[in-house]
Amino acid sequence: MAEEFNPGSSVFYRDFNRPWKWFKSGDGCYLIDQDGRRYLDAAGGVAVNIVGHGETRIVEALRSFEHEVNYVYGAAFTSSWQEELATDIVGISPFDSGRVFFTSGGSEANETAVKLARQYHVERGEPRRWKVISRWLGYHGNTLSMLSVSGRPSWRSLYDPYLFNSPKIDPPYCYRCPYQKSFPSCEIACADALERAILMEGPETVAAFIAEPVLGTSVSAVVPVPGYYERIREICDQYGVLFISDEVLCGYGRTGTAFAIDHWDVVPDIITIGKGLGSGYAPLAACVASDEVVDVIKKGTGRFVHGFTYSGLPLSCFIGVQVFNLIMEKQLFERSKSMGAYLLGQLALLAERHEMIGDVRGLGLLAGIEFVADRSTRRPFNPSLEVTERVVALAEEKGLLLRQGAADANYGRGGDHVQISPPYVIGLREIDEMVEVLDVVLTEVGQTLA
Ligand code: PLP
Repeated sequence: MAEEFNPGSSVFYRDFNRPWKWFKSGDGCYLIDQDGRRYLDAAGGVAVNIVGHGETRIVEALRSFEHEVNYVYGAAFTSSWQEELATDIVGISPFDSGRVFFTSGGSEANETAVKLARQYHVERGEPRRWKVISRWLGYHGNTLSMLSVSGRPSWRSLYDPYLFNSPKIDPPYCYRCPYQKSFPSCEIACADALERAILMEGPETVAAFIAEPVLGTSVSAVVPVPGYYERIREICDQYGVLFISDEVLCGYGRTGTAFAIDHWDVVPDIITIGKGLGSGYAPLAACVASDEVVDVIKKGTGRFVHGFTYSGLPLSCFIGVQVFNLIMEKQLFERSKSMGAYLLGQLALLAERHEMIGDVRGLGLLAGIEFVADRSTRRPFNPSLEVTERVVALAEEKGLLLRQGAADANYGRGGDHVQISPPYVIGLREIDEMVEVLDVVLTEVGQTLA
């Protein structure tokens, strides 16, 4: 049995092999532990916090909630906060008009999107459409159905017997192009893979294609080339397949625009958001659907056969409205864009100093650093070296919190990378501090690897 860390605790930790630190408070981009030590939260938790930790405006606003209704059953009643937040979200969405279905987390939001796609087709008179095509190295949630749709081998393998067969295409991962080609001569072959998958499955059976427009923690901030989603949209339209843009991680300003798909000239049919929507102050996510999709149900049975106990919880939506107001007031999406550009520039300079950095990528305040044993061949490190773990642990020792990427980036056979996704309130000084610490960490880790 492993050494007992945190003895006396009754918490079911996700990893019993290491001690669990707890933080006492937060202050902007910093978290403060029980000993009063400050850590720069370069991960934003897991791309969750956008307005900063310890935001007094949210805590103070909560006092005004004191006399408001705390719960109504979302299957029968609504609340002013749910109404207001839904209007706010549709207002910044690429849809001319649409509807928002609130959930507590991103997995639920994606389940909602998939069920909506299925019901849409059934109500349109195409009941054979049920399959959801997704991508390897995509992540859409940890419930069994969303894990089935996800393409992250390290999280799937244990539960494989429960997962349903969900077709997957190769990811648009240029650094490790699945076809050993390069852009633009590749003619975006990875997008054409969707058409082949639809044809092989039988177009009359395919309900939706789901993808993270900018890939998150499976590969850390992989940005598909220009034209990729335009081609995806074309294919979806040709075969009557709905396009679900999973923006639970990369949406809501994370990449410098309201929605990550806005970087392409494309409007999806359904968008899911989470994480930043509640900014870590409330468990909140949402499935946002264009009226073209919702109207089919409105004009059909009129009833969406779906819901969760906490869908549209007034308190969560109230916090969502406070977060939204802070975003608008402080122009946080624009800040994500400008600070992100500075961050990526600094990381590119860092790459010049460290041979172990194979790739620096990202958009806005979603950045990824991939580590390699050999830069010229892009050969990954042997997974037994646990390079990412070492980088993350040493950074934490030095007061910097990074998000460890999943050990799948090399198509399920290792691959080292970290994700940087700080709160949008981050400033130049904090980015400089982050890069300085990273510089020291990579020097030390690089020396031990040599
Ligand atoms: N989709 C994406 C792209 C995510 O990154 C995540 C979580 O990391 C999810 C869905 C699942 O969200 P949740 O953990 O809130 O259920």
